[in-house]
Amino acid sequence: MIANSYDLIIVGAGISGLSMAHYGVQRGWRVVVLEQADRIGGSLDSHRPHGTGFWLELGAHSGFNSYGHLLGILEERGCLDRLCDRARAPFQVLADGRLQSVFSRLHWLALLLSLPRLLTTRKPGKSVAEYYRNVLGSSNYADLFGPAFNAVICQQADDFPADILFSPKPRRKDVRRSFTFPGGLQTLADILAKRDDIGIQTGQSVQALQYADGIFILTTATGVMYRTRAVCLATPVAAAADLLGEAFPALSRLLQRIATVTVESLGVVVRREAVSLPPLAGIIARDDSFFSVVSRDTVPDPTYRGFTFHFKPGLLDETGKLQRIGEVLGVGREQLEDVAGKTNRLPALRVGHQELVREIDSHLIGIPLALTGNYFTGVSLEDCVMRSLMECRRLLDGAG
Ligand SMILES: Cc1cc2nc3c(=O)[nH]c(=O)nc-3n(C[C@H](O)[C@H](O)[C@H](O)COP(=O)(O)OP(=O)(O)OC[C@H]3O[C@@H](n4cnc5c(N)ncnc54)[C@H](O)[C@@H]3O)c2cc1C
Repeated sequence: MIANSYDLIIVGAGISGLSMAHYGVQRGWRVVVLEQADRIGGSLDSHRPHGTGFWLELGAHSGFNSYGHLLGILEERGCLDRLCDRARAPFQVLADGRLQSVFSRLHWLALLLSLPRLLTTRKPGKSVAEYYRNVLGSSNYADLFGPAFNAVICQQADDFPADILFSPKPRRKDVRRSFTFPGGLQTLADILAKRDDIGIQTGQSVQALQYADGIFILTTATGVMYRTRAVCLATPVAAAADLLGEAFPALSRLLQRIATVTVESLGVVVRREAVSLPPLAGIIARDDSFFSVVSRDTVPDPTYRGFTFHFKPGLLDETGKLQRIGEVLGVGREQLEDVAGKTNRLPALRVGHQELVREIDSHLIGIPLALTGNYFTGVSLEDCVMRSLMECRRLLDGAG
């Protein structure tokens, strides 16, 4: 069967694909999003254990008022008032077998001696380790900031480009600094998908992409073929590289140069009385089997608490992970009311990434193929939305 009634076919229903769909239909295109999973959202995944009314994030957990494009979409959809505050709670550092405050990990003298270098040290061309060791002091980097940066991007951050890890974006004063939704960030995906003019087909894994005479043919695992004049790949980078291998081998090779890491996340739900830890936003781990823990304490629940551990890949099996979780939270396996796992893949960007992106973009000129995702300007939700808008303009308005 060949379906060909769409102007734009988007592969992947994470934030990148869904924002691309938003911008596409805004311009009057007939759009369909093909998603391999049986749910939408990708790394937006608020797990909602049946019958509890509770949720916890297995992927992204926070939006910020610097996410101007994302907030712009929510505003257009009339949904800005659905954002909810995240309660203030501290991060703690797990080091030397105990939880410690962030401030107790600081080497103040080293910080005071290093900070003036902020005025003379530039981020471009430097890795996170090079830049931040210099401006914060090596001891502060080793004992606090290095582990904190690992926690932020759920991977070893040392070699990540310093100017991509935190790229300043203007903040909206009328929006709370850090936000989520009453049902978690999954709501964001649900809002974006909830438009009659966006067709979303889940359970459709695109396996092949062909391109000839200005026409794309996409074939799914179930044998359905889609014919269209414009395609947007909004998958993780490795999947995009695979799909482009036959029709665009040079582009595929460029994408293969972007390394990725696996994040093994395991979330647990416990009754409030079972855990004696004080309320916390999360845990930054130093030298442990996990990079970080994200807690649900930022949206307190009267009955349950939730903790998602982001484990380093390949170190522990599920039994080992649950044992470590039990040790950190001080609970037994029988006290876990619910356990949910998820594997995410994130790009491991390296210094020089912007040049690689320029090369990728130069291959896209004149081709009705858009590439969006978290492997362009950065990994945040806002970076994904910004890339989608850029690609939509290039594709649909001929502005590239
Ligand atoms: C643990 C974790 C915590 C994070 N925390 C935050 C945070 O707090 N704030 C923040 O701003 N960012 C955060 N991020 C980053 C952010 O969530 C991601 O970068 C972003 O959600 C990626 O969106 P995406 O749409 O590009 O990719 P994804 O969300 O990975 O979506 C890609 C989609 O493509 C689908 N797909 C893949 N191959 C195919 C195929 N062949 N056919 C059809 N469909 C396919 C996948 O199933 C998936 O649904 C976090 C990421 C992780 C992993």
